Amino acid sequence: MIRLAEKSSPCIPPLQVEPVTGERLNDVEALCDALAHNLHSMWQYGEHVLVQREGDSITVAPYRIQWVGSHTPVALFDHERVVGGLHDAKCIDDEVRRGLSLLIRKAEHRRKSAFRECVACGNSKPPECLDGKLCFECFEQSGGVH
Ligand SMILES: [Zn+2]
Repeated sequence: MIRLAEKSSPCIPPLQVEPVTGERLNDVEALCDALAHNLHSMWQYGEHVLVQREGDSITVAPYRIQWVGSHTPVALFDHERVVGGLHDAKCIDDEVRRGLSLLIRKAEHRRKSAFRECVACGNSKPPECLDGKLCFECFEQSGGVH
């Protein structure tokens, strides 16, 4: 079967994260600070995780990437793969902080466990950057032929 590679290369152009209202955060302190000031919001944490706060409850999940058109990956909160939540997080204290650290590590692990090696270049890629057993780069180099 011959078909044109539709996806862009290199994989993951600037990621759009929806529906995220806060900015991307890279450490738990910054996350707790954001959580303390917002009762309803969603944040991107690091490269693999989304954190959502709805009132007293905070849930953590890995991304699920959806392509909106050929060149626009959108990271969505993956409700089916939520690693856990804190359900009585009225104030952001040390207990919440510890719980979040744990959940974030779990979510990162869950996301990374979905990565696969491209059979051609051997690079480990997330599922949205693979076309069958090839990464998009190798898929395009092969002329889009399976
Ligand atoms: Zn490859």
